[in-house]
Amino acid sequence: MNLQVQRKQAKMRNYLSMSVHRTFWKHFLLPVHDLLRNTRIQRCRRLLEETQWLSQKNIERLQLARLRRIVSHAYHTVPYYRAAFREGGVRPEDIKDISDLEKIPLLTKAILRSRNDELVSTSYHSTGASREHTSGTTSKPVSFLRDNSDRSWGWAAALRAYSWAGYELGDKEALVWQRTFASNKSTFLQPLYDEARRTLLVDSGDVSAQNANEILGKLKRFHPHFIRGYSGALHRLAEYLLEAGQCLDVRGVIHTSSMIYEAQRKVIRQAFRCPVFSFYGAREVMAIASECEEHTGLHVSSENLVLEVLRDGEAASPGEVGSLVITNLTNYSMPLIRYEIGDLGRTGSSPCSCGRGLPVLESLEGRKFEHIVNSDGSHTVLRPLEAFFSEVPVKDFQVVVASPDLITVKIVEGEAYSEVHDRIIKNNLKWRGKSEVEIQKVGKISPAPSGKPLRFVSYTSSQNTT
Ligand SMILES: [Zn+2]
Repeated sequence: MNLQVQRKQAKMRNYLSMSVHRTFWKHFLLPVHDLLRNTRIQRCRRLLEETQWLSQKNIERLQLARLRRIVSHAYHTVPYYRAAFREGGVRPEDIKDISDLEKIPLLTKAILRSRNDELVSTSYHSTGASREHTSGTTSKPVSFLRDNSDRSWGWAAALRAYSWAGYELGDKEALVWQRTFASNKSTFLQPLYDEARRTLLVDSGDVSAQNANEILGKLKRFHPHFIRGYSGALHRLAEYLLEAGQCLDVRGVIHTSSMIYEAQRKVIRQAFRCPVFSFYGAREVMAIASECEEHTGLHVSSENLVLEVLRDGEAASPGEVGSLVITNLTNYSMPLIRYEIGDLGRTGSSPCSCGRGLPVLESLEGRKFEHIVNSDGSHTVLRPLEAFFSEVPVKDFQVVVASPDLITVKIVEGEAYSEVHDRIIKNNLKWRGKSEVEIQKVGKISPAPSGKPLRFVSYTSSQNTT
């Protein structure tokens, strides 16, 4: 039998196995999961599949009805909001339009941390709520309550977003993730569940030059249909593959957790020979916005949340970078209304050509602490510095914005590093931040509590993360 026929047969077997597993999940495992965990993921997914094609106006109507419902619930059952609304002279009936949200004060991470108990609804006992916490990428985790309604809508929105990349439950998937957050609470059904999910976990903390061969070997033996994981770890994996002169054929890569540059996407596309999709989610709100097959931006899950982009407290104009503020419409146990999530983004001005009525976030611009706010109110993005430092012979680096006037760059020198590079770094950063730049040579740079490299630290971080 020639090679071409063998390949065609393998493809056919692969396709049949994929459709059998998808059918098993859709008609048996997901309904059983919903039954055992008291969720409604399947029903929510069906509804979201329909609503994504509504016009933008009709989606806004649906969103407003849900917003008014959760605002009223918060006012009547959540001590924090009752006090905040009264203080601001706002009543639930004052929210007649989405733009009326601005009457409600912002909820910062600092408030979520310090007044956590007051943010719990007095009727949370009936919602199947349990405690979860943020990943603590840059600071200690923040705890919050999530109920079954939020879990159902959140998972349904995530599955819809993954389906835009072609993924359905039952497909073989490699997860390049932090091990502690990938594992669910163990139950006696867990081994069966893991087997049925057909998931290979690659700990993102293990992705390094030393482990590259072992990880790539594991991936090749598992032969995933899709790869999903942290942007940085996926990019590193792709680089190792290309350096070894290899590729891995998958159907799609979904990257999450932080923004990605076109050059990085290109490397991932080349190594895995497939399209790359951005997924923007957070522990507190799950699926926030995701890229569809047209790759023109990220569709906001507007049935489940309201996303505002604010600049100096006012709605940013399309194309302007602003702070992302989220109102979760589905978590009744601990409503998060106008929650400052600590990320920056840019709204788009035109609808996506795919025909979905969901509004588009043009781009994510990274975490707030990865920016310098200049004296004229504009933002200097620090992220592109990663590309700059990849050209300088340093083993590791960290940019610390100590104040609006001082940037400290900590570096672990590489072999070829010399004083010339001091000058190159200073000139580059001075131009970007218009501040004084000092360089500190150190032996080691500590990662974030989550184990991820901490490249940027800003004096403004404390406002977002403490
Ligand atoms: Zn689209």
